[in-house]
Amino acid sequence: MPLKIFSDFHSILHCLFHSKHFYIHHCPRIYCTKPQVDIKNNNAWIQAGATIGEVYYRIAEKSKTHGFPAGLCTSLGIGGHITGGAYGSMMRKYGLAADNAIDAQIVDVKGKILDRKAMGEDLFWAIRGGGGASFGIILWWKIKLVPVPATVTVFAVAKTLETGATKLLHRWQQVAPVIDEDLFIRVFIQLANGTKTGSKTVTTVYQALFLGGADRLVDVMQKSFPELGVTRKDCTETSWIKSVLFIAGYPSGTPTEVLLQGKSTGKNYFKAKSDFVQNPIPETVLQGLWKRLLKEASPLMILTPYGGMMSKIQSLHYLFPTEGCCLKFST
Ligand SMILES: Cc1cc2nc3c(=O)[nH]c(=O)nc-3n(C[C@H](O)[C@H](O)[C@H](O)COP(=O)(O)OP(=O)(O)OC[C@H]3O[C@@H](n4cnc5c(N)ncnc54)[C@H](O)[C@@H]3O)c2cc1C
Repeated sequence: MPLKIFSDFHSILHCLFHSKHFYIHHCPRIYCTKPQVDIKNNNAWIQAGATIGEVYYRIAEKSKTHGFPAGLCTSLGIGGHITGGAYGSMMRKYGLAADNAIDAQIVDVKGKILDRKAMGEDLFWAIRGGGGASFGIILWWKIKLVPVPATVTVFAVAKTLETGATKLLHRWQQVAPVIDEDLFIRVFIQLANGTKTGSKTVTTVYQALFLGGADRLVDVMQKSFPELGVTRKDCTETSWIKSVLFIAGYPSGTPTEVLLQGKSTGKNYFKAKSDFVQNPIPETVLQGLWKRLLKEASPLMILTPYGGMMSKIQSLHYLFPTEGCCLKFST
């Protein structure tokens, strides 16, 4: 009988389309052991059913200056997430979660439990980017923690078509993959009310995490991306764990314990796909895109910049596209 393994169902379509499969679900709330964070040795062992939000929480619980570079959505299951690479707001500085996975325990097809040494480097390479469930059942990941400053800075700045969104987005495509590696700026594109009653416009929201204080961030922005007009007033200094909530879109003031809930607290239903863009999209194409989006009821597009550490990682390092990629689009 075919087996299908899940950690937190973030690729739920698999489940629906393969409903004849018997499936194993690593459910964090039933039997998952709490992530075992070892600050002294800079690592943690995590069972596959833990969510990435819980991993972030347990690290921050022990240290304000350690973190982990994985996904932006905090309800992702660590089991499937790392097998797909796992990009997030610190990838420009530290690469993917798969880069920072240093060991794993898997059950192979013969039912043997293997760690990195026993499975060998080829299999360990394959499970970090080759997709979930292809090579065995992952029980545990061992991850390397990364340093984060005690104070980081976040901002979200919006521009509509009326306030120059097209030119700015074109400029952002050139800047975001090459800007200071401490800075990650992604863009949300949605519809908003236009200036005339009943009209719609396109809004682009620049959401950023900077691994440092606000004064240095404003300097970096003035030197590299003055067109966005970010000032000290737009910036909020906070801790890394609170920046996780900001980036994941939780309302300001949400307690960090929300990360222990496992499931997303939002009730959004959507279908999405991702693609990679290697050359900046010309302004004329963006204008065509706006027309297309304005025909939809509630479209959302997220543009995520790579560059930094991601351009330094050779493409064969793991099964994840890095070379030449400057932007990732999710719609
Ligand atoms: C809302 C949303 C936001 C996302 N945000 C990001 C993001 O910021 N960064 C990013 O990199 N990705 C992101 N993703 C993609 C996400 O990382 C992948 O869908 C990932 O596979 C989810 O892992 P899961 O364990 O939660 O999913 P599941 O649906 O449980 O599993 C996904 C795949 O992995 C396999 N698998 C699961 N557990 C195991 C295991 N223990 N052993 C072997 N195979 C296993 C499953 O069989 C399946 O093929 C997002 C997805 C969604 C839906």
